[in-house]
Amino acid sequence: MLNFPPPHPDELLYSTVARAGIYHGIISPKQLLDEVFGNRSVIATLNLPSHIAHIADLLRNTQQYSVEDLIYRHTLFPLYAPFVQKAIRDKAIELMKGKAGGAVHMMLGVAASRIKAIHNFQACPKCIEDQIEHYGESFWKRDWFIPNLPFCLKHGPLFIYKEKPIDSRHHFLPLIESNLSLDSVSSMTPQDSLMLSATQQLLKLPSYPSISFDQWTQFYWELAHDFGYTRGKHIQHAQILKLIQQRWGKRYLQSKQLLCHENEENSWLKSIFRKHRKSFSFFEHLLIWQTFLPQEKLEDIFQHIHKIQPFSVVKTKSSENDLDISNQAEYRKLWQQLVRKYGIQSSRSQENGGAIYTWLYRHDYSWLIQFNSKHQMVRSASQPRVDWHQRDHKYVRELININQKFKDSFHTPRQSANWYLMQLPEHSTISHNLNRLPLVSKFLIRYAESITEYQLRRVCLAAELLFFSHQELHLWQIFRLAGLSKERLTLEAAKILKLSGFFNTDDDKN
Ligand SMILES: [Zn+2]
Repeated sequence: MLNFPPPHPDELLYSTVARAGIYHGIISPKQLLDEVFGNRSVIATLNLPSHIAHIADLLRNTQQYSVEDLIYRHTLFPLYAPFVQKAIRDKAIELMKGKAGGAVHMMLGVAASRIKAIHNFQACPKCIEDQIEHYGESFWKRDWFIPNLPFCLKHGPLFIYKEKPIDSRHHFLPLIESNLSLDSVSSMTPQDSLMLSATQQLLKLPSYPSISFDQWTQFYWELAHDFGYTRGKHIQHAQILKLIQQRWGKRYLQSKQLLCHENEENSWLKSIFRKHRKSFSFFEHLLIWQTFLPQEKLEDIFQHIHKIQPFSVVKTKSSENDLDISNQAEYRKLWQQLVRKYGIQSSRSQENGGAIYTWLYRHDYSWLIQFNSKHQMVRSASQPRVDWHQRDHKYVRELININQKFKDSFHTPRQSANWYLMQLPEHSTISHNLNRLPLVSKFLIRYAESITEYQLRRVCLAAELLFFSHQELHLWQIFRLAGLSKERLTLEAAKILKLSGFFNTDDDKN
């Protein structure tokens, strides 16, 4: 095919092939396969396509697109690549160049993952407007198809269409909205937006280094250790589970198929903090990083893990045997210097830091642990002093604005203390320092909604809505609109509604 169109920024290759069909006026899907790939059996794959060498070849005159460029910039490969072993990553790239069958999906764990793959076509209507303005046409954008996160980072909810890519295996369907039928609109929670912005970082950088199983194992052990979730060499799994549930909420974890139970022996959460023998999905890793290291850039975390020298590797190095026990004092001093300068986490990736840490860990364990635990305070003292008083004022102003904005909103969930905190960008810092933020604490006590208040808000708003649309105020109608039933009311809410005459209508007898 001559004049194959170059992909737009963030466009899926699937979409570029579909546009090529439009440009050349090709209606028959099979003919399009013939023209582009010279092969009628190519399967139209949205997330991880194959036969990419053909497309790179069609674009060779532009001198801008190598096979790797197309894979990293125009498929969902970057969501999977950094989390699998190097050999698998290389093999997957090899397969995506040519005929892959279903092998790539199997290798990268897409097929067997707990993380639901995207089934339907979906798109952001505002992005489509932008695309038409900038490019004169619309196309399937890569960010709309992130598993578990059906949202646009810039605009939020996506339109989910009834049509599915698997409806027709050999058809590259172009994005022409009028041809699609809307099924639903996705709704986004504050937790989703955190996960989404972390995930977007994965798509931005061309290629993160591969991490070995030993490095993953050690990274998670250190993470648990640095945050006080170990006792001796043991991970305190139950405490970590509690933290994750507090941070994200059981309902959210459930909706992402990631809710674990304490007595579940091989839950994903326990497994990721144990010796790694298999790969975990991007979503599982990011969920933990967003819990423990919400301020860190993904790039820095990857660089840190990449530099980890696992114990098993260091052990075999001859230089390690040269470290003499008589030098204990020297190693302690060096470690102290490093930690004062870089903090515990980063010290291990400084020159010799890993070796010194490992030596101390193996020969001087109790001193190391004692020093590191004290250091948690040393580091916070050496950080620039935070003006909590000023922050307290700033946060409370923001909270008051949020309260004003959402007080008559039908759509927010219960405006609990946690809900209010989640609306603030630095919620994790705030929730850990509430004792330093008296105004924020007072606000939360005063304004956080109880279940009763939440139910009454919905009843009032439903009644108001019916009243202003000149409808009769039947109790059943109010309850239906409010998504409530008499049985689900709290005793207190029922009492208040009774006192205000709500239950004296005829409906009450039904
Ligand atoms: Zn958008």
